[in-house]
Amino acid sequence: MSELFHGHGAHVMEHLRVPLFVRYATGDEKYRVAAENCFPKTARHLSAGGACISDEGVGRRPGSPYIGCEYCTMLELLHSLQSGVEKTGRASFADWIEVLAFNSAEGARQRDGRAIQYCTRDNQYEATRQGRGSRFKLSPTHDDVAVCCPVTALKFFPYFVNQLWMKTADGDGLVAVNYAPNRLETKLNGVAVRIESDTAYPFEDEVRMTVTPENPLSFGIRLRVPGWAGNMKIEAPGASVAGEEGWRVVTKEWKSGDRIAISFSPGIERKAMPNGELYWKRGPLVFALPIPSERKQLKSYAVEGFRDYEYTPKAGACWDYGVDDGSGEFRLEKISGKTDPWTGAPVRLTGKLFNRKSRVNEPVELVPMGASLLRRVAFADTKSVRLLESEMNLARKAKVTASNSFPGYRPDALVDGVTEGFPDNQDAEWACRGDGAGTKVRLLWNAPVAIGSVWLFDRPNPGDHVMAARINFSDGSNVEAGELPNDGMEPLRLNFAEKTITWMEVMITRVGPKNRNVGFSEIAVFKKQP
Ligand SMILES: [Zn+2]
Repeated sequence: MSELFHGHGAHVMEHLRVPLFVRYATGDEKYRVAAENCFPKTARHLSAGGACISDEGVGRRPGSPYIGCEYCTMLELLHSLQSGVEKTGRASFADWIEVLAFNSAEGARQRDGRAIQYCTRDNQYEATRQGRGSRFKLSPTHDDVAVCCPVTALKFFPYFVNQLWMKTADGDGLVAVNYAPNRLETKLNGVAVRIESDTAYPFEDEVRMTVTPENPLSFGIRLRVPGWAGNMKIEAPGASVAGEEGWRVVTKEWKSGDRIAISFSPGIERKAMPNGELYWKRGPLVFALPIPSERKQLKSYAVEGFRDYEYTPKAGACWDYGVDDGSGEFRLEKISGKTDPWTGAPVRLTGKLFNRKSRVNEPVELVPMGASLLRRVAFADTKSVRLLESEMNLARKAKVTASNSFPGYRPDALVDGVTEGFPDNQDAEWACRGDGAGTKVRLLWNAPVAIGSVWLFDRPNPGDHVMAARINFSDGSNVEAGELPNDGMEPLRLNFAEKTITWMEVMITRVGPKNRNVGFSEIAVFKKQP
């Protein structure tokens, strides 16, 4: 579990279902454990939109709003999650399916369905040939890269629809795995059964089912209880409703035209990405600030209406927002009118975000991520950035020295209040010369300071990585530090009983396998965990 995934994303996601199958076929305990482990591990690599980061490779990187997610990887993850529901009966896999389908998968498509992105991302400020070998543009073929993704993108929603319903293992009950407007036609014990689900889900919180068996028939319908359902209500006159983990089973002798009304009451959730950026989700929908865009045609194809396109932001478009005091609270707004919900989304979140240029909270409207192409989903928590720059960060008053430094790097950059580094802002980080194990950085104060929390930020580049360090303090005590978050966006936070010291020394004791010049982008010290 401690080791993150690496390798080609689509294959990694495809292989998730292998231990499920082998366990099912053999009953061997070790495959159950492997299957139990691999999905939570996958969750550590997720984009906000529910996809596994994979600009081809996963590369042991935690989920990020800035890393591309390949369409093939999304399809393989969908298929593995559907296998997860099928083989374990666990409803949480189905929650995940909806997040993936309605957000990353839908949000990688051109609205007319005639082009897709090979790779998509949560925070997508342009969709052009720039970056990851032209994988972010919109194309019906991507024949300049590889033609895999347009084919898998066509399969995604048919696969999704195909397993909206399943049968129970004994074959005489039905399972509503995922909610969507649909009509099921099947047979139970030789009797034809039709169930129509009338709903605008995920844009409304109700699903109305009409059950039509060919002859009156007793059976159970297992309805998924989404993890975010809030108070889920089920009305099914004359039926018994039994609860099971993740499901409600509605049983009766069904007659033609019997109805089930289901309603949910999801709240608006504020969630954090591994890099500390914040985003908002309601039910299965993740929300995004849409960025007004311009479309430029690249090449055209022999089949009329199919072209490659690049999307760039319109002049003056702003997405440099963060979350600070007085911003980041959103409320749901419903917009009536019958249009395609993926172009004119009937739900929005309205609230304020902190404009980092003008330094004021501004009103913004967030739309479902699946209804956006250029967008920003996750926003920096500017309050924690300010914390590093503030008086509370005692490291800023220390004199910093290092046992050695890479040419051009200064130890002072460790306490400049900025967590950035190569390739964006090399002046804001520090790196050592050589591979680094044994290198020491010392913070010296000219008067005793009381401290209880140290934050260590890794260099943001994926190669250089502190895997372990020890902090020695002037009072003779020490604290061991484990692996730092490798992208440097979030610190490793070390909290301990308050101690009064005049210096501390951070010694790097172990470095990552791809290390060249290990270092830190920032070290922060607080009296207590802020
Ligand atoms: Zn592909």
